[in-house]
Amino acid sequence: MNFRYSPKIKVKRMMITTNSAAAIHYTLRNGAGEILDSSEGKQPLHYLHGHGNLIPGMEAGLLGKRVGETFKIVVSPQEGYGLRDEGLVTIVPHSAFGGHTPAIGERFQAGHGDERYVIEVREITDEGITVDGNHPLAGVELHFDVEVVSIREATEEEISHGHIHGPGGHHH
Ligand code: ZN
Repeated sequence: MNFRYSPKIKVKRMMITTNSAAAIHYTLRNGAGEILDSSEGKQPLHYLHGHGNLIPGMEAGLLGKRVGETFKIVVSPQEGYGLRDEGLVTIVPHSAFGGHTPAIGERFQAGHGDERYVIEVREITDEGITVDGNHPLAGVELHFDVEVVSIREATEEEISHGHIHGPGGHHH
């Protein structure tokens, strides 16, 4: 009998699919090449694929990728943090800040109850303070450089919770 063990055939590298618990390193730049965010020098980003934990364009770009692969993902605002809504830019009276004058670029939590959002101070005049409730990355085309670090199957519990547990995930 001519039998030869061939490890190449037996090893099947996992690919990212729904219910994969994956870890990635990434660097995010805008269209002008400025770095907006990066996992470099930090823990990789751990996430559960297919549960809306990442922006849609990122999940689409990661689907089917394998450990060790490096690639670019370009995400349109629609598949990222949405388009800017100028209706979320408003002028509030100085009294809204209780006599405290904020700095331009300063961010505050606004809203009431469970409906919380972040507003950023844009402009300050005698008439009032212009605040912007858009996500800072709304309207921005996102350029990601990505490396897949690890992939494993998520546990039943993680899938039912919609997020991963353990290192890089939820601890509860
Ligand atoms: Zn959980």
